[in-house]
Amino acid sequence: MRKIIDNRPANIREIVAKGCLKKGLSLEDVSLLVNCEDSGIISDIFSAAAKIKQEIYGERLVLFAPLYVSDYCVNDCAYCNFHVSNAGHKRRRLSQDEIASEAACLINMGHKRVLLEFGEDPKLNDIDYICEAIRTIYSVKDEHGNKIRRVNVNIAATTVENYRKLKEEGIGTYQLFQETYHRLTYESLHKGPKASYERQITAHNRAREAGLDDLGIGALFGLYDWKFEVMALVEHAQKMEAELGVGPHTISVPRFRPAPGIKYQPKYPVNDADFLKIIAILRIAVPYAGIILSTREEPALRSRAFQLGVSQASAASICVPGGYNNFPSPSMGEGGGEGDNVGQFYIQDTRPVGDVVKSILADGLIPSFCTACYRSGRTGEDFMNLAKPGRIHEFCRPNALLTFAEYLEDFGDGDLKSEGGELIEKYLNDINDDALRNKTTIKLKEIRNGARDLFF
Ligand code: SAM
Ligand code: SF4
Repeated sequence: MRKIIDNRPANIREIVAKGCLKKGLSLEDVSLLVNCEDSGIISDIFSAAAKIKQEIYGERLVLFAPLYVSDYCVNDCAYCNFHVSNAGHKRRRLSQDEIASEAACLINMGHKRVLLEFGEDPKLNDIDYICEAIRTIYSVKDEHGNKIRRVNVNIAATTVENYRKLKEEGIGTYQLFQETYHRLTYESLHKGPKASYERQITAHNRAREAGLDDLGIGALFGLYDWKFEVMALVEHAQKMEAELGVGPHTISVPRFRPAPGIKYQPKYPVNDADFLKIIAILRIAVPYAGIILSTREEPALRSRAFQLGVSQASAASICVPGGYNNFPSPSMGEGGGEGDNVGQFYIQDTRPVGDVVKSILADGLIPSFCTACYRSGRTGEDFMNLAKPGRIHEFCRPNALLTFAEYLEDFGDGDLKSEGGELIEKYLNDINDDALRNKTTIKLKEIRNGARDLFF
């Protein structure tokens, strides 16, 4: 017998109320939320998402930057500027010295975590090159001892053996996006090894088998109906939890962006209102997962998304290999100029880290450069056990304050220092546990006196 789905407003409001218990939602519940057009209920969905974000992730927003290492790629993904048939795109594969210079640049901008990006090329971007790049990045330090403390990796789906090698290098999160969960669309948009839907959808299982337990998923919005993708992301998260013993550490929500070498036009463009709905519904449906937003989105929309559920954001990203040092682009020849290499796609938030930090402060949030969980072994199941009951907060608030204080000392200008200092005081007083507040106060003092890398 066919089940009758109750889409009356009262039932949808009940689902939203259930979501506020932070236990997640069933797929049936999610199907009702994605199809809801009632503006009053949508506003309830947004309020619920903001409340959950606040209760689980608090006021912090973790910042990172992508580091594009090589844009050589054997795949022909219709939506990506690096696709192999884009003959006009001149490619670069960074040497280890160049990778070190890129890391130095990011350190100098205040970053502590990066997301490595590679095209798929088994010969040029083989696993040994990728592993060496990770070692190189971890080895770079500035004169104050600042370094990249967490290297997350976004490489094409690969073998258990290769994932084991990544694990041995001490990576943070392994991220891989399904792009679209709709098989026929997936198969029509990809050519090359990535065209195997099977290889892509089972990648996290192999990564888990190799011992990686911080895993990120995502969908590229615009390729297929966003409602389907949101339901599939939630189902993927639930399956991971049931079958791998650990749900996704992060969910990314990239939205298609144009680039000069892409003819593809998204068949299912997602408007801003729906994009915010996507973030809010994911926040409610998978409350323990971090949600990642990139500089593909423009600043005002990012600010709104930060309130609704995003917990990590990239800042001052450049999606060209060698772009942070502005190495002359192979497509420009020496000296640069017209026809500048935009990289993988046009980004919309081009502000420097300092400006992003200022706007985060203006929104009442704390910019965090924290990498403590993974370095204290709070990964996978251990992380989930803290995140689910909202206890991750206990570590995150002090750690966010400590890493932001470091940022202010090393990279803040006068105004930012005083504004940031005030915010640190405010949130310090919000730490309820007296012992923890006192310990944080002591560590903050030590940081002002030159100590670095203090965390709980
Ligand atoms: N090459 C690997 C792969 O495809 O899995 C590594 C990741 S690729 C460098 C990073 C991600 O960028 C892709 O997974 C895709 O979702 C996203 N992307 C590609 N083209 C894009 C575009 N035109 N607009 C927005 N995001 C795009
Ligand atoms: Fe290559 Fe990844 Fe771009 Fe596809 S999305 S063309 S695999 S870099």
